[in-house]
Amino acid sequence: MSPEIHSKLPAVGTTIFTTMSALSVKHNAINLGQGFPDFPMNETLQSLVDKAMKDGHNQYVHMCGLPSLREQLANKVNEDYSANINLDSEITITPGGTYAIYTAFTTILRPGDEVILFEPAYDSYIPNIEINGAVAVPIALEYPDYRINWQLVKEKINAKTKAIIINSPHNPTGKVLEESDIDALKALVKNTGIFIISDEVYEHLIFDNKPHLSLLKYPDLFERTFVCFSFGKVYHCTGWKLGYCIAPESLMKEFRKVHQFNCFTCNSPAQYALAEFIQQKNEYRQLGSFLQKKRDYFQQLMQQTPFKALVSHGSYFQLYDYSAISDQRENDFAIRLTQEAGVTTIPVSAFYKTPVDNRVLRFCFAKKESTLEQAVERLVKYLS
Ligand code: PMP
Ligand code: GLN
Repeated sequence: MSPEIHSKLPAVGTTIFTTMSALSVKHNAINLGQGFPDFPMNETLQSLVDKAMKDGHNQYVHMCGLPSLREQLANKVNEDYSANINLDSEITITPGGTYAIYTAFTTILRPGDEVILFEPAYDSYIPNIEINGAVAVPIALEYPDYRINWQLVKEKINAKTKAIIINSPHNPTGKVLEESDIDALKALVKNTGIFIISDEVYEHLIFDNKPHLSLLKYPDLFERTFVCFSFGKVYHCTGWKLGYCIAPESLMKEFRKVHQFNCFTCNSPAQYALAEFIQQKNEYRQLGSFLQKKRDYFQQLMQQTPFKALVSHGSYFQLYDYSAISDQRENDFAIRLTQEAGVTTIPVSAFYKTPVDNRVLRFCFAKKESTLEQAVERLVKYLS
């Protein structure tokens, strides 16, 4: 008889992204669900990886990441966010942003600790918290603006609160934190032992001239923060699964203890390529306007339908209210659209632990114009 696992994550099933992508393939639908671009990544970056492999950079690099890449990253964030990050002690290259977030949680959490998060929330946060024996304390963002109610956060903080996780630009809503949010956060954590995990994977995917308020900019917040990034989002290569974490030395020292016995070190050729390519600052600086055009184009096309756009200032995503079309629950409606209209989206209710159903779907607009056009054409036809 084989041994039975007493599941550490009994409530967890397959992620909504995997589920909807599989359904999309089955019905030959256009996939505006899972967040990935369908246009090609930069050819120079591709050839730099090829070159790195041909140059023989195919063995382990340093446990914390290739030093020349960390050097370039330190230069970049110190310039972008007026920070003073040390490449040796404060940056670690990770296999993606999700892993950086998981490692940060695992570094700090003990059973019974509480972590405050904001819903709708990226789907990995709660399982990451729970697998460490800690307790997720979700706070709903206020629909339809998705503002953080800081008074509510204050009320939820207690002696067990170990961390708060924030995400700006925000997946799935596209909401971006403002200076008033930063001030509120500062006031709440001052003189406490609370850590912050700041998910900034969409740092450059920000629109409407909004500044990205990285926690790297604020020394009194950074002193307690793990800031997590993803190269996949910046360079249109989500399948590379490469990212990094920046944290003050005392936090990073412990983070590396977890990291070195989990993945130890990341893909070498990609790090060599990125160390060179990252110096082309225009590549990431033009990302906001590049994606803003896609958001606007999609929004303009969607005006042919009764879907109502909610505000998105960043990320790959925009939420659309379908209450003028149907009363169906989000999950059922998303399945129906894939099956019958041939367009896949993500139900926003999937980003909540506490059931909330506002009749909104998440659309990924990081697609070729022709893909967006075909998707809207299908929706128009289906809804007419
Ligand atoms: N955080 C958020 C909010 C995301 O949308 C993603 C993208 N999947 C990640 C983290 C993780 O990025 P990566 O693919 O680099 O793990
Ligand atoms: N971040 C991507 C999204 O939000 C999906 C990543 C995944 O499939 N886990 O759509």
